[in-house]
Amino acid sequence: MSAVEYSVQGNIAVIQLNHPPVNSLSLVLRQALGPAIDKAEADPAIRATIIIGNEKAFCGGADIREFGTDKAAQPPKLRDMLAVMDSVKKPLVAAIGGFALGGGMEVALGCHYRVALPGTRLALPEITLGILAAGGGVQRMPRIIPVERAVEMCLSGAPIPVAEAHTLGLIDEVVEGDLLAGALRFTAKLIADGKGPRRIREMAPKIADPKAFFDKKRAELQKSSRGRVAPLANLDALEVAVTRPFDEGQQYTVDVFLKLLEGTESKALRHSFFAEREAAKIPDVPADTVLRDIKTAAVIGAGTMGGGIAMCLANAGVPVKIIEMKPEALERGLATIKKNYAGTVSKGRLSQADMDKRMALISTALELNAAASADIIIEAVFEDMTVKQTVFKQLDAVAKPGAILATNTSTLDVDQIASATTRPQDVIGAHFFSPANVMRLLEVVRGDKTAKDVIATTMALAKKMGKVPVLSRVCDGFIGNRILGKYRVQAMLLLDEGASPQQIDRALMNWGLAMGPFAMGDLAGNDVSWLVRKYRATAGKNFTPDPLADLLCEKGRFGQKTGKGWYRYEPGNRTPLPDPEVEQMINEHRKGLGLTPRAISDEEIVERCLYAMANEGAWILDEGIALRASDIDAVYVNGYGFPSYRGGPMFNAEAVGLGKVLARIEKFAKGYRGDIWRPSALLGKRAAEGKNFSGT
Ligand code: NAD
Repeated sequence: MSAVEYSVQGNIAVIQLNHPPVNSLSLVLRQALGPAIDKAEADPAIRATIIIGNEKAFCGGADIREFGTDKAAQPPKLRDMLAVMDSVKKPLVAAIGGFALGGGMEVALGCHYRVALPGTRLALPEITLGILAAGGGVQRMPRIIPVERAVEMCLSGAPIPVAEAHTLGLIDEVVEGDLLAGALRFTAKLIADGKGPRRIREMAPKIADPKAFFDKKRAELQKSSRGRVAPLANLDALEVAVTRPFDEGQQYTVDVFLKLLEGTESKALRHSFFAEREAAKIPDVPADTVLRDIKTAAVIGAGTMGGGIAMCLANAGVPVKIIEMKPEALERGLATIKKNYAGTVSKGRLSQADMDKRMALISTALELNAAASADIIIEAVFEDMTVKQTVFKQLDAVAKPGAILATNTSTLDVDQIASATTRPQDVIGAHFFSPANVMRLLEVVRGDKTAKDVIATTMALAKKMGKVPVLSRVCDGFIGNRILGKYRVQAMLLLDEGASPQQIDRALMNWGLAMGPFAMGDLAGNDVSWLVRKYRATAGKNFTPDPLADLLCEKGRFGQKTGKGWYRYEPGNRTPLPDPEVEQMINEHRKGLGLTPRAISDEEIVERCLYAMANEGAWILDEGIALRASDIDAVYVNGYGFPSYRGGPMFNAEAVGLGKVLARIEKFAKGYRGDIWRPSALLGKRAAEGKNFSGT
């Protein structure tokens, strides 16, 4: 079957894009589209042409798998096709359903008229891949809609609602019902009215004072883009597009595109895109594994996590029973869920009817017996092995055969929890991140005995809940928190040696992290890790002393919830403010250690924190805890505020060069206890080979 199908309806040619799943502009489709347009142009019986996809997808844009390959370089390029579309003498109509994204939007802009179904997603999301719309989007969008709005679309990558697109003239008609029938009606009228082509390239950009607008926007972006290249590159290209002739602007955009494509930022963003998809593949769990049927769920515990997890299930349309010990805890949990949903409704992001539907899927109980009919039970009770084992023993007695028994533990041994049951093959870790209804990451923790269909079903359920599932083996902290531990150790050492919490946080935020370690501690509650340290000190296992952080908690400085932590906070304000009391505490602590503070550069802070993460990540790979380096990156980008335009800790180390990273680690290691900087064997091997973590 051809990538486009050509048919004739009276005097109208219909070119149907037919390249599943999303009609991406792969070479086969590009090669087929041009001849189809030429055929219509050459046929004297044809008066106009419709380009249509299907109701679910007009066109998803460039095929990013072709980026950097021979196929991307082979003609025709998208911009050549658009030049052909500009040159034809008969009207071209785009009939858009589902989505027209990036190159797909550019094909629609290359047409002379556009009709769309309501709810269609129309966007130029190139910036999310660190590039720009070089197939003519940068030139055409600000000629068909106001420049300010076109700039907003290119800088955010977000879709423009169809109703707004219609008002602004981007869409000529919103079609209700059958898309092709509507497009044929619209086109027949064009012909009847004697309308010819209406080329966007011939339109004047819609803006009164471009210089004033672009100067102001540039100043704003310089402040907010934190070293990112693509936002300013997009803005510059848009300015050129609206102030210079079309072809000059087009050439400028293409030159910038090629530079961006070769840059680390775009490579990192594409890496993040693929890492997320790759993480779903588990070599020994085939893609066609028969899944267990998940029709109903139960969540044990209605605390911080249980409530959020129940929301995730209800959002995915799965009826869920929340089970608690005490009625007060249940009421409190349910009230929080209601409050969270109501907040989303008041922001206009959820309808009241949808909130009611979701709330109706959530029921409650005070007895574990109520979990008897659930297909999956997710435990989110206190982080205590004895409590968890007791709950799992009881669940073993009540759960139906084949039910999946999942634990949300962040630090405990999933195999030990599973050993409390007679069915360890049904037990798995489902490590959600807080707030569970918001954070995209789900670490799926595979125990020694977890069955393959339990893994596949949990991964599939995660996707249904809109999560990014990443598989981890059992170890202390799994992938994410184990790496975080090493990062925190560096942050604390830097503090001992002379940096301040605000310098460390600022250096890491300027580099791109959403938050530095001290602001993060204050947000999550410094008491949480304090309790873990106390437990570990008594258990004599995996214990790293942290006397300064202990002192902070002994002074009641738990963080935002107590109005003070590593920073102080004004009532009702989350802005971290430096606190002289903390400064004094740090000074005294340094004196106690006999340390003279030294000036530490931001570069050292960033290198030490980031390379400690990559090194631990390499150990995690070596030990088989994570399947691939990109999985570790997916954990960090989706669960820990790591900027996707830096790719993740492993990608970042590869971008720097593993040889250089290893050399820095060896230099940093001098003067510290051996377990603080213990270069991973895999890192050493790959650095010596001059390869990446994956061996390529
Ligand atoms: P929480 O204290 O807010 O809630 C725990 C709830 O479990 C309480 O409401 C308690 O009444 C209930 N509970 C305890 N024993 C029970 C039992 N036998 N039957 C029914 N209910 C019972 O705790 P949390 O922060 O929601 O943490 C829950 C789990 O999630 C822990 O394992 C924790 O490590 C993990 N976790 C927490 C976070 C976080 O940021 N809070 C993040 C990831 C994972």
